Amino acid sequence: MKILLIEDDLDLGNGVRIALTEQGMEVVWVRTLDDARRSLERDGCDLVLLDLGLPDGDGLTLLGQLRRNKVQGDSSGSLPVLILSARDTLDDRLAGLDGGADDYLVKPFVLAELLSRVRALARRSYGYDGETIDVRGLVLHAPTRRVSVAGRTVELTASEYSLLKMLMMRTDRVLTRRVLEEQTLPGSQTNASNTLDVHMANLRRKIGEGYIRTVRGIGYVIDQQAPGGAA
Ligand code: CA
Repeated sequence: MKILLIEDDLDLGNGVRIALTEQGMEVVWVRTLDDARRSLERDGCDLVLLDLGLPDGDGLTLLGQLRRNKVQGDSSGSLPVLILSARDTLDDRLAGLDGGADDYLVKPFVLAELLSRVRALARRSYGYDGETIDVRGLVLHAPTRRVSVAGRTVELTASEYSLLKMLMMRTDRVLTRRVLEEQTLPGSQTNASNTLDVHMANLRRKIGEGYIRTVRGIGYVIDQQAPGGAA
């Protein structure tokens, strides 16, 4: 679980960063909207923690851009966003939630509550709370990047792991070739399609057939339930 923390308060930002990192989450901490956009375009993330009062503008602006697909790195427009703000009136909270935020936590908050809300949001968005995903015996443990099939460890390259993780975090949703290429094979612009095919073939060979389903002409999906009940 990679979290983009957008927060200009140094003490609070540092506290949140440490707390999330201790939970095995990867945290990228930026202090401005500009840096947030750059980070999203360059590396993407799985979940955003968004302060509203930032040195170069209002966090709601970025939220609006994310929901209108105006920020590269989130082609789906559905990146989970949790607002962290001292603005505590009902109108403030409604502005955040109507603006497309998934949750809103008023400062000051207790770190335990933040962690609990991050996990809940991750589960709602990905069916996954930041640590282990299990799909029919195919298990991915994010803190150790360990993947196993029926208890047997599988060695994956970094690209294969990224592809598998993205598919497992969004089971039952077809991911397009373009999204997979953009998010998991950065820098492979030339001949990216062929690169994706090669990685996918290697991944299938390693984890076995029956997990990754090709949706012809569109992309790939991992089904939570095996088609026809077969394993
Ligand atoms: Ca602030």
